[in-house]
Amino acid sequence: MTHTRRALSTVGKGLAALRHLLPLLLCLLVLAGCAKAPYTGRSQFIMVSPQQEMALGQQESRKILSKEPVKTGTDEAQRVETVGRRIAAAARRGDFRWEFHLIGKDVANAFCLPGGKVFVYEGIFKYADTDAELATVMAHEVGHAIARHGAERMSRAMMVQMGHDAAAIALGVAGGSPAAVQAFSQAYGTGANVGLMLPFGREQEYEADRIGLMLMAQAGYDPRAALDFWRKMSSAPGKRPPEFLSTHPTGQHRIAELQARMGDALRVYRPPSGK
Ligand SMILES: [Zn+2]
Repeated sequence: MTHTRRALSTVGKGLAALRHLLPLLLCLLVLAGCAKAPYTGRSQFIMVSPQQEMALGQQESRKILSKEPVKTGTDEAQRVETVGRRIAAAARRGDFRWEFHLIGKDVANAFCLPGGKVFVYEGIFKYADTDAELATVMAHEVGHAIARHGAERMSRAMMVQMGHDAAAIALGVAGGSPAAVQAFSQAYGTGANVGLMLPFGREQEYEADRIGLMLMAQAGYDPRAALDFWRKMSSAPGKRPPEFLSTHPTGQHRIAELQARMGDALRVYRPPSGK
């Protein structure tokens, strides 16, 4: 019991010391500046520069291309390229270096690295019968990229890490033993969620859906196909849900959100002439 009481008092002193570090943290927050997500106008906290983000995306893309079975010259690879180019044109981001790759794996997944490197797995074609359905998933991934969701996640993780470091220092200053500092670190449970390819948060998922819906409509794909695609994805047979579902919200909520935004998307949708 006395150990616990002593530990609590140490934590108390640590928190008091932390108060001196708060102005420093606030300064960092102000320096980071605020970004705004396209289409939704949501304020974002981003500490990573677009250049850093671009470089990370480039680096990661090279790694993936060197180890994954990239398919070229097939009909499906051509569809990925064609649909991707049209969505990229609608996104109007001249600073992005767009690439669209098909990976020959039976996984229902897709992702876009910062800076515009889009990867689609062959398994997605089980659910994307039409180009408009393929556009749904690709525009969603492009939505993540243009809204800088990867950089946003990295920034949040950096803040968590800084908060941890500051508190650990404060605990040390307050006379906490190395063991106490270590115990604090473990309790804080930092790390593990930095990374470009980890699942995005729910808020970012809905935002990518919303941006994707607008992009596909602007690119000339009927946005109503998004409802068909997500319905097929959520009713996928098999014991295990497809990988894409384990990292992405699905079901009624997602479809209801898309339906709520459909009016906006249909207003900008112009079917391509001659089709
Ligand atoms: Zn997503």
